[in-house]
Amino acid sequence: KVVVFWFRRDLRLEDNAGLSRALATGLPVLPVFIFDEDILQQLEDKSDRRVDYIHRALEAINQQLKDFGATLNTFYGSPFAIFKTLHKKYRIHEIYCNRDYEPKAIKRDRTIFEFFKAAGIPFKAVKDQVIFDKNELLKNDGSLYTIYTPYAKKWREKLTTKDLQPLDHKGGLFVQQAYTPIISLEKIGFKKTDLTFHPPQLRAHIINNYDKYRDYPALTGTTNLGIALRFGTISIRQCVTFAGQHNAVWLSELIWREFFMQILYHFPNVVNESFKKKYDGIQWRNNEEEFERWCKGQTGYPLVDAGMRQLNSTGYMHNRVRMVAASFLCKHLLIDWRWGEAYFAQKLNDYDLSANNGNWQWAAGCGCDAAPYFRVFNPIIQAEKFDKKQEYSRQWIPELGSAAYPEPMIAHSFARERALKTYAAALDKR
Ligand code: FAD
Repeated sequence: KVVVFWFRRDLRLEDNAGLSRALATGLPVLPVFIFDEDILQQLEDKSDRRVDYIHRALEAINQQLKDFGATLNTFYGSPFAIFKTLHKKYRIHEIYCNRDYEPKAIKRDRTIFEFFKAAGIPFKAVKDQVIFDKNELLKNDGSLYTIYTPYAKKWREKLTTKDLQPLDHKGGLFVQQAYTPIISLEKIGFKKTDLTFHPPQLRAHIINNYDKYRDYPALTGTTNLGIALRFGTISIRQCVTFAGQHNAVWLSELIWREFFMQILYHFPNVVNESFKKKYDGIQWRNNEEEFERWCKGQTGYPLVDAGMRQLNSTGYMHNRVRMVAASFLCKHLLIDWRWGEAYFAQKLNDYDLSANNGNWQWAAGCGCDAAPYFRVFNPIIQAEKFDKKQEYSRQWIPELGSAAYPEPMIAHSFARERALKTYAAALDKR
């Protein structure tokens, strides 16, 4: 008899809630990872850094499992089909995994849950990715929070040291198997990338100064832990503990992460629709040529262009610049936020549906607790404030200041007025 532990976006052995529950059963645990063909086939770029990152994280886990006389069982295909074969091969007592809150993942898990339920085998999804999930953080009258500030206040009040205890189980055992390498990237149709894989680290010198430096894209003022949090190579409990000891502003960012996760869980329609319905009446211009210029970093606004070029070449963009670039697309160019969201989804190493969607809707003004529609970021003032010496812009736009760099594709004041009129028309505020 075995207990299966299914790794998904929790790629670590330490402080892994579902894995520790599986080990606590006392039965040998079969560690499994499935490269989901449905997800991978949708990725156009076969040198996708995220796939490479997952692969390297799995290699690290596999090395660690050697010490336990075990190995990671990796597969490529449809999770449902693979579970069916595992069911034939092993006497499965129970299956454990960590809960995933994305609509597609919930649907996938349900099918597998139903299949095993019929076979009398429990499929248990455990909370791991967040401190509070589902309905653990509600208003006193039982309703949901859709505004960040009161949500964050309640989150802080509810937090106890118990929520942060590492969830390790010492002494459990894994199924004893000879070491087998992870299924190769080539086999699943992908290539190695330029990504440098480091085990994630909480750097005190960055987090201590986070509130001072986080808005300046030329500095290393933020942690770059996005991808680690996305794929769970670091535990949220560890991050929150560290944040509590070092910087309250950084903690508030981790709470934003959970805020958008619970919004997506409770309002899955935000994937395609504006949280504030009226905003779906906006008459977007959706000019494809202009969209192309934005994507390529050729708008003539240095901060926007530097950001887009950083994104295109590294898969990362600084948060301040993400806000300015997103606002520029929606408000200056009047292009549907869904276009920008989809572009970021393709490119961002730390892409996460809930955070990306929540922040795009925030930038477009149509999300929960978004900036009011009449607040239009001025990309020139933003650059003066946060990249005064143009260090960041020059890093990504070598031709800045020369004739080779384009003039602004649209004047700010004209774009601002046009955006206000267009938004007002949709919101009946004429
Ligand atoms: P730090 O500043 O060190 O913050 C630590 C962690 O907190 C981040 O890694 C992230 O997990 C979380 N976090 C920080 N800010 C936010 C936020 N505003 N919303 C939700 N979580 C946050 N973040 C993503 O993780 N995935 C995305 O796909 C994503 N898309 C975005 C799209 C737009 C248009 C904007 C404006 C922001 C987006 N963000 C996204 C939020 C934020 O920009 C990134 O989390 C941050 O830049 C990642 O850098 P870091 O790891 O150095 O973060």
